[in-house]
Amino acid sequence: MDESGLCVSECSRCPALVDSRSRIVNGTGPEDADMLFVGEGPGAQEDSEGEPFVGRSGSVLDDGLRSVGLLREDVRITNCVRCRPPENRDPATEELENCRGYLEREIDLLDPEIIVTLGKVPSEHLLGRSVAVTKEAGSIEEVRIDGMPRRVLLCVHPAATLYDRSQEDTFAEALDRAASLAGIGAGDGGSGQTRLDGF
Ligand code: URA
Repeated sequence: MDESGLCVSECSRCPALVDSRSRIVNGTGPEDADMLFVGEGPGAQEDSEGEPFVGRSGSVLDDGLRSVGLLREDVRITNCVRCRPPENRDPATEELENCRGYLEREIDLLDPEIIVTLGKVPSEHLLGRSVAVTKEAGSIEEVRIDGMPRRVLLCVHPAATLYDRSQEDTFAEALDRAASLAGIGAGDGGSGQTRLDGF
């Protein structure tokens, strides 16, 4: 762990992931961002560049952010697991648990207004229940993470919009809602005020 407590520099808890990774992919973005996006785990491009969401899914995310008046630099982006699973399989339950402490620490240090889960794996991981993400996208749940109540907005994975065009609106609406709740980007109607009070 580096000085900030946000970056893991060494870890060998998951033997299969240690074998398949080229590097540990830590979260990126401001350490005090109001909005935190949580994906599943690094893919090939992320593993090669050392940054979350820099492949095709990343382009979809960047476009979605732009459409609500935000840039990637305005938000923090991280993953449930920081090492690329072999053949892009889902992270195993044990791997998710091994990496959980790093994610919890990132959430604690950031203290974001809103956490946006990108896809089924991060949604189920943070909510601790099964999630029908296509149906539930856009909904917000308050959940305790490391003892603190956190607002989590469920969202489809950006890659889902590439396979199924009908998910584009779902994705865009979830981002709009997230921006509005965090009081940033176009979502705050330009007031700059957070709308979380009284939520
Ligand atoms: N998909 C994810 O869930 N995370 C990434 O970092 C990239 C793609």
